[in-house]
Amino acid sequence: MENNQITETPTTDLKSLPKEQLTEYLEDLGLQSYRSDQVFQWLYQKGASTFEEMTNLSKDLRATLSELAEIKRIEVFNQQESKDGTIKFLFKLDDPNDYKVEAVLIPDYYSDGSINRITVCVSSQVGCMFGCSFCATGKMGYFRNLTHGEIVDQVQIINEVAEEKFGKKINNIVYMGMGEPLHNYKAVVESAKILSDPLGLEMSPRRITVSTVGLSKQIKQLADEDLGVNLAISLHAADDEKRDKIMPINESLNLEKLKEAVTYFFQRTQQPVTYEYLLFDQFNDFVEDAHKLAQITRWVPSKVNIIMYNNVAGVELKRVRENRLDQFMQALISKDVTATVRRSRGDDIDAGCGQLAIKEGQERGK
Ligand code: SF4
Repeated sequence: MENNQITETPTTDLKSLPKEQLTEYLEDLGLQSYRSDQVFQWLYQKGASTFEEMTNLSKDLRATLSELAEIKRIEVFNQQESKDGTIKFLFKLDDPNDYKVEAVLIPDYYSDGSINRITVCVSSQVGCMFGCSFCATGKMGYFRNLTHGEIVDQVQIINEVAEEKFGKKINNIVYMGMGEPLHNYKAVVESAKILSDPLGLEMSPRRITVSTVGLSKQIKQLADEDLGVNLAISLHAADDEKRDKIMPINESLNLEKLKEAVTYFFQRTQQPVTYEYLLFDQFNDFVEDAHKLAQITRWVPSKVNIIMYNNVAGVELKRVRENRLDQFMQALISKDVTATVRRSRGDDIDAGCGQLAIKEGQERGK
């Protein structure tokens, strides 16, 4: 490799480059393609944070890469474990603004206490601009998109914790943490590709779920990518009138547009869709709502997750009462809807859905 082949600035973060650009960057430095596969594997499968660790590269090559490029990696800033085993991570980004995001590890146990599945909920943005009225993250405002490297880092770091603590790797990834994943489309898609890449984290795309409030253009784009990942829609209300009240995005992208996008997604991928429905007391928990929700589930093959809301300070909407939950579920069952009640995990550490927001003097993402 000759120094006159150097074309990039000295501080290129290799994990900010999508795989193809990483290959091009390394080719420009004179590396053969198998070398770029090795670097990719070090970055994403082995979680290297220095070039020194890349022991199958020559010393000269490692020295040159150290001069020209860097490897950014997020760090665990704080970790809290709930009584139910859920662990919430606060990550500090490698960023001059000192931004932080959260991710949650959710273990699922068999009745004998042994570990069954491990799900991780990752963040895709610092804050969020969509302002859903029930959501703690939405109240922070939007600061910036995460890079795909910062998204993969969350999984990689939590994978290490899971292996150490449970002797098992993560089984499921859900993009349901801070931010609207499809509003950070490129990084989310690239991160999902890396998670399922044989040289990356080797996860089945069927174990990856991307959630959205319903950005119809990006839902169609995602379908065209043919990644094989699952799609979840944060629905939370079954008619436009109620959805407008709690999710401002619905005013421009209403249920009709959502229907069109979801139908396109199914036609292209043949994959069923999941609807996430937070049940709020005396708001969207009437039998009439259940019947409207049942109609939505007929758009394409789908299932519904009814999520128990953890009350958020300053939010008027409250968690549904148990008797109203039962009535709502009965109404869904009577319409042959496949629905599961998801009780939020980690309630005692504010790790439930819609509760990921930085606290204790770290408002505004800092
Ligand atoms: Fe943003 Fe999702 Fe919260 Fe809505 S629910 S404000 S899209 S993070």
